[in-house]
Amino acid sequence: MKAPYIFNIQKFSVHDGPGIRTTIFFKGCPIRCLWCHNPESQKYNQEVMLTSEGEEEIVGQHYTIEQIVKKVQSDQIFYDQSGGGVTFSGGEVMTQPIDYIVELASRIKRLGISLMIDTCGVAPVENYQKILPYADGFLYDLKFINSQDHFKYVGKDNSLVKDNLKFISDNGGAIYLRLILLKGINDSMDTMEKTVEWLKENNIKISEIDLLPYHDFGRDKYNRLGRKCTQNFEVPDEQHVLNIKYYLQQEGYNVKIGG
Ligand code: SF4
Repeated sequence: MKAPYIFNIQKFSVHDGPGIRTTIFFKGCPIRCLWCHNPESQKYNQEVMLTSEGEEEIVGQHYTIEQIVKKVQSDQIFYDQSGGGVTFSGGEVMTQPIDYIVELASRIKRLGISLMIDTCGVAPVENYQKILPYADGFLYDLKFINSQDHFKYVGKDNSLVKDNLKFISDNGGAIYLRLILLKGINDSMDTMEKTVEWLKENNIKISEIDLLPYHDFGRDKYNRLGRKCTQNFEVPDEQHVLNIKYYLQQEGYNVKIGG
């Protein structure tokens, strides 16, 4: 079975779904968000990145399924106490060798551990179909409701993102919809209204909406990879983010600021 590259296994994570979680970051992503905080997650191959001390470090390792299961199992008591579990993230986990991902997911579920899938929605629908029986929820990015903007800022249109979101909803997957907010670009009330309109028209069932205001962490990573930094956005005003929250709550959604 082909193994993917993993660039980080983060324990005690509290921003990748409910409770305390172990987040596994798979390396490789089919899109290029200009604000990406983890540029080392984008390429599917191993890369050299400098540490903050200037040492060369290889990013991306193979792990056997057994090795990962052992790692995540060691924190099971924390998941149980906090309502947490494991999150597959990236990069884009749903574009990784799917047999490996499904096997790992089934092993984690057999231990009674909750599993969340963090995804940008740009992956084959068959992969979502395969992971659905094992996923307790999807942290699902809807970056731009407008397809041209999606293309402009991430390099691909959003048709697959919308289709896969509908597929997951129609098939009973729990959706934690993540809206990244970039000031003056996708955070207007008009954009929010269009988003809600589309969700309702398509009968998308949402467990929670997570508002993720842009921040510019990770800028130095571009330099450390020898790449030009593409992050050049503004942080939305706090009050405006609260206004968005109230609006979405009035529309009947359970809304959180942050992951
Ligand atoms: S989907 Fe995530 S990992 Fe991929 S480019 Fe966008 S922000 Fe980076």
